Amino acid sequence: MQTAYKFKLQPNKKQVELLEDWQHKVGYVQNRSLGDRIATYSNTFVQGDYCDLHSRREVCSAYLYCDLETQFLVSPLHCSVNKSASLGYPWKTDNPKLRRAKPDKDGKIKPFNPKRSAVELHSSWLTEFKKSHPEYSTVNADVLQQSLRHVDSAFNKFFTNEAGFPNFKHHSRVGFEFKPGTVKINKNYITFPTLGTMRFFNSREIPSSWEIRTVTISRDIDCWYVAVLLRDETVPDVLPKRLEECKTIQGADVGIKKLIALSDGTMIDNPRFQSRSARRLEIRQRRVSRKNIGSNNRRKAAKRLAKVHQKIRRQREDYQWKAGKQTAQNADITVFEALNARGMMSRCKPKKDETTGLYLKNGQAAKSGLNKAIADAAWYSLRQKTKHQAAKLGNLVIEVDPKYTSQECPECHHISSGNRDKEKFICEVCGHSDDADTNGAVNQAHRGKQKLGIDSLLVVSQKVTPTKPARQEASSVPRDESRNPAKSTVKQRQLLLLKVKSTPSQSKSRTKSKRKVLEVQYTQLSLFDSFDGDARESKTKTS
Ligand SMILES: [Zn+2]
Repeated sequence: MQTAYKFKLQPNKKQVELLEDWQHKVGYVQNRSLGDRIATYSNTFVQGDYCDLHSRREVCSAYLYCDLETQFLVSPLHCSVNKSASLGYPWKTDNPKLRRAKPDKDGKIKPFNPKRSAVELHSSWLTEFKKSHPEYSTVNADVLQQSLRHVDSAFNKFFTNEAGFPNFKHHSRVGFEFKPGTVKINKNYITFPTLGTMRFFNSREIPSSWEIRTVTISRDIDCWYVAVLLRDETVPDVLPKRLEECKTIQGADVGIKKLIALSDGTMIDNPRFQSRSARRLEIRQRRVSRKNIGSNNRRKAAKRLAKVHQKIRRQREDYQWKAGKQTAQNADITVFEALNARGMMSRCKPKKDETTGLYLKNGQAAKSGLNKAIADAAWYSLRQKTKHQAAKLGNLVIEVDPKYTSQECPECHHISSGNRDKEKFICEVCGHSDDADTNGAVNQAHRGKQKLGIDSLLVVSQKVTPTKPARQEASSVPRDESRNPAKSTVKQRQLLLLKVKSTPSQSKSRTKSKRKVLEVQYTQLSLFDSFDGDARESKTKTS
C-alpha cells in the first residue's frame, strides 16, 4: 500500500537561498525541455517531410541525418530519428555491455533499438548543457533529471487524454523531486542530498515499517513543504468491490444552495468560503493595485492577498474531504452527474439593438454572481475527493448523464419543467412530491442502476417519517389528524392540494415562502395516503 504525508519544512536562511536558486535552475531546465517538446510537437502538423522549414530541404533522405556535425547545419524538424524532441544526440551508443535487454510478454528479447526516446534525448542534452554552464552543478543531478521526466509524463498524459496540454511553469511554482532512498528522516530532522539537513514540523509519525520512496519539496505562499511518499508491501491495498458484491446505490446531487443532496434526504451545506471572505479579498486586492508596479510594497501586499486565497483554499479542501467521506460511506455505489461546470460558467451572448446598434443588457452582470458561486462550490474537486475516499473503502463512484435529472418524475418518468416549483418537486401527472434536490439524487441513482445494468441494487432513499412533519403542522391541522393523517377525509386532502397548487404564484416574500414549505410538507403526507401502499413503498428502500 502507498500513502503520502506532507510536512512543513523549517529551512535556515542559507537553505532558503539555496532552494530559491534551485527553483530558478530547475525551472529553466524544465521549461527549456518543455519548449523543445512543444516546438517539435507543433512541427508534426506541418505538411511535407521537411527537415528545414526555410530551405524546405528533405535532409533525412540526402544526409541520413543526425550525427553531431550536420546537426548544426540544419534543424531536425522532421527528422525520422525522433519526432518528439530535437535537443540532444538522437542515437544510442551501440555498446553491448550497456544494453539492458528486457524480455517482452512472450519472453522474446527485443532487438536493439538505436533511437533514443525523448527523455533520453533531453537527458543527453542536459549533460552537455551542464558542461557549458558549470553553475548548474550546484543543483542535485537527480533533481534535474527528474524534472525532465516530469515533462515527459505530462506529454504522455496529454496523449492518453488524461490531462490537458502541458504548460510552462513559473519558477516560484517549481518543486524538486528526490529519488527513492536518497532522503533520510530522523525525529524532526530531514536530510536531503546536496541540500543538507533541515528541521521540519513532525506533525504525524511515520510508522517504522513504512519505506520512504520519492520525496518532493514544494513551495507555498507561507513556507516550504515536503511530501513524503511511503510504501509498505505487507499492507494490502483496498481493492474496489466487484459489482456483484455491491448492494446499495445512492445518487449525489451537487448544487449551490446545498453542496450535496443525497437520495436518502441527507443535505450537506455549502459554506461558500469564497463569498465569506469576499470583502477581505476586495480590500487586499485594492491595496495591491494601488501600489506601484514592481515595488517592494506591492510584493508585500500581494503576499498578504495570496494568504487570504490560501486560507480559502484550505478551508474548502478540508470541508470537501469531510463531505466526500460522508458521501462515500453512505452506499456501495455513489452516482454523480457529469456536470460541465466550465460550460455552465460561460458568458452570456451579447445583445445588440438592431436599429441603434447599441449593446443592450444581456444579464451577464447577474450571471457573474452565479458563476462565482459555481466556482466557489468546486464540484469537480469535490467529486475527485469523494472518489478518493470511496477508493479507501473499496466503494465505487460513477457518473451519469445530467440531462433532465431535476425535471423527471421518478414514479411515472414524466419530464417537464412544470414539475419544478423552485425547491419543491411536484409531478404534474401523478402528483409525486419531494424536495427537488433529493428528487434529482433519486433520479441519478436510478440512472446509475440502468447504466450498470443491475436491477437488484437497493436505492438508498428516504424513510417514511409521517409523524415528524405532521408535528410541525400542528398549528394548522387538528391534533387527531396530525397524529394519524390517514384519518383525514378525502375532501380535506383535495382542498389542501388546491391550496398548494395556488401557492407557487403568490408573492416572493420570505415569510410566505416559509409558509409554503410547510404547506407542501403537509401535502406530501396527504399524497402519500392518497396513493396508498405504492407511494409508501417507493419512499422506503426499493429495489
Ligand atoms: Zn409523476
